[in-house]
Amino acid sequence: MKIIDVTCRSAWLRVVSSLGVVAVLTGSTGDRPDVPESTLATTEPSVLVVQPSVPSTLYASGAEVETNWIGIWHAMCGSRRGGLGVPELTTIAHSHGDQVAADAPVTIVDTPPNGVAANLDVVFVLAASVPSTAIPAFALAEAYLESQFTDTLTVTIDVSYAALATGVLGATTPIYTTATYKNSRTGLINGRDATDTIQLLLPNTTKIGVRYSSSATITQEDRVYWTRANYKSTIGTATGNDGSMQFNSTYVWDYNPADGITAGATSFVDVVVHEVGHALGCLCGAGIWTKDMSSLDLYRFQYTDGTADYNPDDSAEFTARPRLVASNVPNDSHHIDYVTLEYRMSDGSPYQASHLREETPSLGLMDPAIGTGVTSSPNYFTTKDLDLFDSIGWDR
Ligand SMILES: [Zn+2]
Repeated sequence: MKIIDVTCRSAWLRVVSSLGVVAVLTGSTGDRPDVPESTLATTEPSVLVVQPSVPSTLYASGAEVETNWIGIWHAMCGSRRGGLGVPELTTIAHSHGDQVAADAPVTIVDTPPNGVAANLDVVFVLAASVPSTAIPAFALAEAYLESQFTDTLTVTIDVSYAALATGVLGATTPIYTTATYKNSRTGLINGRDATDTIQLLLPNTTKIGVRYSSSATITQEDRVYWTRANYKSTIGTATGNDGSMQFNSTYVWDYNPADGITAGATSFVDVVVHEVGHALGCLCGAGIWTKDMSSLDLYRFQYTDGTADYNPDDSAEFTARPRLVASNVPNDSHHIDYVTLEYRMSDGSPYQASHLREETPSLGLMDPAIGTGVTSSPNYFTTKDLDLFDSIGWDR
C-alpha cells in the first residue's frame, strides 16, 4: 500500500492509495480508527474517508460501545464508466468536506414528516453551491421517503454541487460500520414490524455461512457491514451524517417530476431517492470488500440450485444454506430470497451488485440504470424495493 502525503484540508491528513484504485483519507487527530481497509476491493474507482468514531448505545442490551465509521466515495449509479477516477474522487471528497464544514453556510431542508410524528425524519443539508431550483426537489424526496417508513430516527444527507466530468451524475458515499453477526441478527429480530417473520429464520448462531466465490467454500462470517442509517434503524444509536452526495452542476437535470421529465434530462428526485436508498442499506458487499457482507446480503443466495441445492426452497433451507456474496460468479445467478419471494439481483457485472437486476420492465427504483425523460414519480419505490428495506430493519 502506497501512502501519499497531501495538503491538510478539512479533517483529513493523508491519502493512502492501494493499486491506484482505492484512496484512503485518514483522520488528522487521534489514533487511527480500526477500519478494515485491507479488505477493500472496490470494482470501481473509490475514495475511502475515515469518519470520527462515535459512541453507540446498543438497543438490545443497553451497552455503550465505541463505533468506527468509513465513507467510500464513488460515482453515482448511471454515470459514464471511467468518468471519475481516484484523483477526481479525492477532489470531490475535499470539495464536499469544505462545502459542508461546520462554518460553511448551508440550507437545511427539513419539513415536518407529513404531520405524522412517529415517522422517519429525513434532513438534507445543502451547501451554498446547490442551486435554488433544486431545493424543492429535495423537499419532494424528503416527503416521499418519510411517508414510507415509520422508524423514529433522523437520516441526514449532506449535499454539494460542482462541475464534474461529462456523463457523470455525481459522486456519493453512504457511511459504514460493522456489527457482529450475533448483534445484527438480534437487532433484526427485535426490530421487526408487525408483518415481519423472515428475520426469525436467520441462523441462531454466532456466525453465518457465506460463499465469497462461486466455489463450494463456505466462510463462517462473524460480522456484517451496516450503513449508519440502517444501523440506527436496527442495532443502536449513532451520531453523524448518514451519507454525502455531490451532484454534477453541468448535468442536464429535471427538478420537477410532477409535470413529466423533459426528453434528454434526468429526473433529479429519482436519483436522490435511489442514492438515499443505498444509504438506507440497499447494498452488497461484493464489489466493495474482498470478503465481507452487508445487512442485505443476509438474504442473498445463488439463484440456481447448482451443485449443492443453493436456492432455499423452504424455511429450513433458508436457515441452512450459505449466502452468496461474490462479484459476477456464478454469472447472473444472484438473488434475494425470502422463501416465499425471490428477487433477482445484479451480480456485479456489468452492473454493481447493490441493485435489483436490470430488467424490462424495471423491478424497481433500486435497479442499476436510470434513463432520461422518465420518472417513477410519485411512487418511486416498488413493492420489491420496499421489501428489501423491510427485511433489513426498516419498519413499514
Ligand atoms: Zn445504485
